[in-house]
Amino acid sequence: MTKSIRCSDVGVNCDWRAAAATEGELMVMVESHAKAHGYFEIPPELLLKVKSAIRDDVSNHKPDSV
Ligand SMILES: [Zn+2]
Repeated sequence: MTKSIRCSDVGVNCDWRAAAATEGELMVMVESHAKAHGYFEIPPELLLKVKSAIRDDVSNHKPDSV
């Protein structure tokens, strides 16, 4: 099972998406991408949005093959 997230699911007008094997790995990717939006630390309210936007991806498609 893959955990995936799209930036647009958090309410940002952005095409970025990521997938990882675990939520922890995904959060590392989210944190580094957040810098592109000026968040050098993710505020707690945004973190909640991110966590609720994370979905279990049963299909095994690669996030960058779109
Ligand atoms: Zn983004």
